[in-house]
Amino acid sequence: MGDYVVESQEEAIRILRSALEQVVVLEGNFKYAVAEGIVAIEKQIPKKPMQSYYNEGDYVWECLTCGNTSEHYQKYCVYCGQRLD
Ligand SMILES: [Zn+2]
Repeated sequence: MGDYVVESQEEAIRILRSALEQVVVLEGNFKYAVAEGIVAIEKQIPKKPMQSYYNEGDYVWECLTCGNTSEHYQKYCVYCGQRLD
């Protein structure tokens, strides 16, 4: 295998997606675990929350992954764990 390094989160997701497609016979649990891994890595890639609406002098931010809103701009969505940009 050597010292292969996964260069980025996007590359890791691509590798896991192709693993899901290439392996024909997969245990249900294994397939589920790989899919969960893809979701977990995707949540580590910063995503800009959307300015949802104006409330008492400040914007309310909407997480584009889960759709929940927060009154404060935070590093992570408190509902789904999405990293925010
Ligand atoms: Zn969220």
